[in-house]
Amino acid sequence: MHPRIEREKKIVNLMISNFCLDVHEKKELCEECNELRDYAEKRLLSCPFIKNKPVCSSCNIHCYNKHQQDKIKDVMRTVGPRMIYSHTKDALWYLFYKFIHKNQRIA
Ligand SMILES: [Zn+2]
Repeated sequence: MHPRIEREKKIVNLMISNFCLDVHEKKELCEECNELRDYAEKRLLSCPFIKNKPVCSSCNIHCYNKHQQDKIKDVMRTVGPRMIYSHTKDALWYLFYKFIHKNQRIA
C-alpha cells in the first residue's frame, strides 16, 4: 500500500474512534462508525490517484456518497480541531479533508 494512503487511513481511523468515544460514548467502535470507517478505507484504496494523490481538497472527484460524506463531515468537525493540539503532525491531514466543506469545483 502506498505510504500516503497508509497514513491517511491511520488518521481517518483515529478520528473516527475519537469521535465514537466522545460522541457515542463507546469504547469500541459502534456499528455506524465501523461502517463509516470501512467506507472511508475503501474509498482511499480505490482512489485513482494513489501514486500521485492530490490532497483531497484539491481532488475534483469527491468520491464520498452524500450519506457518508455527511457523517465524515460531522466527525471532522467534532474531533478535527481538537486533534490539532493532541496530534499536531497527524492533524495537519485534517486540513486536507476540508474538501468536504466545499462544493465540487475543479482543482
Ligand atoms: Zn460511534
